[in-house]
Amino acid sequence: MDRSPELSPCIFCRIISGESTAKVFFRDDLVMAFRDIHPIASTHILIVPIRHIGSVNDLKEGDEALIGHMVLLARQLAEKEGLSERGYRLLINTGAHAGQTVLHLHLHLFGGPLARLALR
Ligand code: 5GP
Ligand code: ZN
Repeated sequence: MDRSPELSPCIFCRIISGESTAKVFFRDDLVMAFRDIHPIASTHILIVPIRHIGSVNDLKEGDEALIGHMVLLARQLAEKEGLSERGYRLLINTGAHAGQTVLHLHLHLFGGPLARLALR
């Protein structure tokens, strides 16, 4: 049966709604954190808002708490993964020239020896 009209066109919205699966690290009313399907460092976690926001370009006044929450969650997950001391990289790609491939805002958390090279 063709169910495609019911499916969200956005892969991260599908993960958030449970239509697609991912290894989930955290979820609350504002954000969800899950493992990147093609990790490029030993830790590679994506932190995404529950609400569909295309990119940093689509943030509005009032989203300050959301962005702060995403960064503080990244710090918390980094600590849980044992990355705090040796360091980690946080990255948000915005638009084509930056290489953004999924048009739902996401913060990459990279950790491990390859984190300094991870610029996807
Ligand atoms: P961007 O290049 O937009 O900054 O990052 C998008 C990231 O999403 C990529 O690292 C890619 O591997 C990841 N990704 C794309 N599709 C999926 C998926 O279906 N599940 C998960 N967990 N990650 C995905
Ligand atoms: Zn989405």
